[in-house]
Amino acid sequence: STSCLVGGGGGVADHSLYSLTDSSDCSPEDEEASPEPPLTPLQKLTADMCKDEKTIKELIIGRRVGFYKVRGEIGYGTFSRVKLAFHALTRDKVALKILDRMRLDAQAQRLLSREINSMEALQHPNIIRLYEVVETPSRLYLVLEYAGGGDLHNRICSEGKLCDNTSKVTFAQVLSAIKYMVGYYIIHRDLKAENVLFTTTGAVKVADFGFSTRVSNRNLLFRDESYLGPPVDVWAMGVLLFFMVTGTMPFRAETMGKLRRCIIEGNYTLPPWVPGPCQRLIRGILKPAPAERYAIDQMLGCDWLLPVEFPWSLVPPEPTNALQRLLDSERSSSVEAELHEEVRSSLQELGFTSEHLQNNQLTDSRSPVTGVYRILLHRSQKRRGCDCPPVVRGMVRDPKREGLRAYRGLRHTSKFCVLS
Ligand code: ATP
Ligand code: MG
Repeated sequence: STSCLVGGGGGVADHSLYSLTDSSDCSPEDEEASPEPPLTPLQKLTADMCKDEKTIKELIIGRRVGFYKVRGEIGYGTFSRVKLAFHALTRDKVALKILDRMRLDAQAQRLLSREINSMEALQHPNIIRLYEVVETPSRLYLVLEYAGGGDLHNRICSEGKLCDNTSKVTFAQVLSAIKYMVGYYIIHRDLKAENVLFTTTGAVKVADFGFSTRVSNRNLLFRDESYLGPPVDVWAMGVLLFFMVTGTMPFRAETMGKLRRCIIEGNYTLPPWVPGPCQRLIRGILKPAPAERYAIDQMLGCDWLLPVEFPWSLVPPEPTNALQRLLDSERSSSVEAELHEEVRSSLQELGFTSEHLQNNQLTDSRSPVTGVYRILLHRSQKRRGCDCPPVVRGMVRDPKREGLRAYRGLRHTSKFCVLS
């Protein structure tokens, strides 16, 4: 069957694919039916996965994973390798984070499931999206939104510190992501320049939720910090901001002990050429005592970020019942309805029928239908400008971007748009 081939490892009991391959896809009776309607792209793909030797070989050697064609390596981490891939039907590029099950001990598995849970819950223009999870007996693949512009750490190491406006625009996007996460009680806990990625259009994407955690009890996060937000992420943002504007780290020492002391004492030196409003922000964040540290809303309202304007309109978060919205778009608002109509017709063109959709609730990351749906939804949202980076008022604007700015007039005018 198709499903045993998907994933490249062989022997995968992937429930969701059974519903994709209706009996006509691979059955010999096909040949008797006439006139034969042309195969849809989905039928062609699933048939190839059943019968085409080249496709089957690619699945076995890992050149294909599920509906994705795998290309070269783009990064690696402690437990993972990350490869570029693209969806065989939609052609969209994705990043494939590959984890070897053998190397995952119990602790790593716990972290991984948190990574998946956190990413599933979040849908924000400045957070890498999780489209799908593909499992094989030996590996786990996270299919992620691809950010092709490199990471912030590499950028600063190769090009030096960011100019004031670029720092503003970059920092504002990280801040917007963190503010949004607080609303979902999710703490990143590994916020650093290596995990801040750029798209090719310059948008910032917070990545690597491998250390993230969800605070289930509101009080745990907010007991003493009713409006401080998660102190670890706020602190990390201070270090990140210092790094962006100076190209160096605020706390440096020869030994771990000395470094620890520097941090505890809040002992760092800001170069005098850092603009005053930015200095005030850094000093507000890098306070050793969490109770004195700036709250997220104070950061959002600081003078330094006043000229920053977000271009995107309010993008509705992925509905809890995505399927219902998709099948019954009249009930949604007009923008949402238009969006879902677009996704539905793209799904139809690819060969996904209402039956396929009925069989997949579109909330299960382990279903290839969810993968296609999320990719198409994101594509439509991007087309509406949801991933455009903010601008600094007073900067020379790209005329191409003006069209998108006109569009945003739809829903949103405030300086900071925080999705809810
Ligand atoms: P770490 O050792 O930091 O915990 P990790 O195993 O959790 O690493 P990631 O940090 O998620 O892995 O990814 C490793 C590298 O792969 C990143 O530093 C980045 O260069 C690249 N990468 C990860 N995700 C993406 C993506 N969505 N788009 C483009 N590149 C990516
Ligand atoms: Mg990382």
